[in-house]
Amino acid sequence: MAIRVVTELREMQKIADDLRASGKRIGVVPTMGFLHEGHLSLMRIARKHSDFVITTLFVNPTQFGPKEDFARYPRDFERDRRLAEEAGSDVLFMPTTEDIYPAGYATFVNVEGITDLLEGKSRPGHFRGVATVVAKLFNITKPHVAVFGQKDAQQAAVIRQMTRDLNFDIQIIVAPIVREADGLAMSSRNSYLSSQQRKEAVVLFESLRLAEKRIAEGVVESSAMREEMARHMTKFSAGEIDYISIADHETLSELDQMSKGKTVLISMAVRFGTTRLIDNIVVKV
Ligand code: AMP
Repeated sequence: MAIRVVTELREMQKIADDLRASGKRIGVVPTMGFLHEGHLSLMRIARKHSDFVITTLFVNPTQFGPKEDFARYPRDFERDRRLAEEAGSDVLFMPTTEDIYPAGYATFVNVEGITDLLEGKSRPGHFRGVATVVAKLFNITKPHVAVFGQKDAQQAAVIRQMTRDLNFDIQIIVAPIVREADGLAMSSRNSYLSSQQRKEAVVLFESLRLAEKRIAEGVVESSAMREEMARHMTKFSAGEIDYISIADHETLSELDQMSKGKTVLISMAVRFGTTRLIDNIVVKV
């Protein structure tokens, strides 16, 4: 069936109400568009867990900092519509900024604690924007299940926390990272990279793999591992490291030592010129 493009909030809510009234299970996949295989994998997972898949496409201004790439964020509606349809989405919900944040808009969702770390520390206000728009999208699409990507590991943790704390009756699924053939995590922002930067960007994944290998060899000191990862990246790329983190995968607090049996989230943000890339890996020590 051809995908239905919906822009009106009320229409979206009516569709969701009708689906619920007829006993259908709704899955939602929130995105900012410029779709790639990573997004499509989430839609396919949503398909498996629901009868009706709503993909949302909204470049959310409140999650971008004043010096970030909101204005130039890549957009390609026709391609997105085709890809979302092929991946089994039933609706592409594309609200306008004015409808999501009308004049006088004043309510924000602030998840405390974990949002002070990592991405939250580097991008003040980012998760306030994310949590707010996701809460709104939940109320507009009324899903039973929502699918997010492990690519944004901290975002997934923030959404889980918000869902628990605000009693959203929604199952949250976190899907694995989809990568390019050389290991670079797929991202809409990869389109900003020059061909040289694109080649070098594989150092993120390489350094994560290096860390994984060291853990398997018995390395337990985080600082030594962080330094080795940084050395690898500066040797093979012009990327500027924002952070490299070795943290408890649930609390996201930094670990000095990786004790046996612990599950750690190794994550990083690296700048190539004006393009900021993130990646992560979860390792059981
Ligand atoms: P975005 O459009 O960048 O806001 O991403 C929308 C959703 O797709 C988020 O839940 C992301 O974590 C997820 N996502 C982005 N890139 C990937 C990827 N390479 N693999 C899996 N999920 C991804």
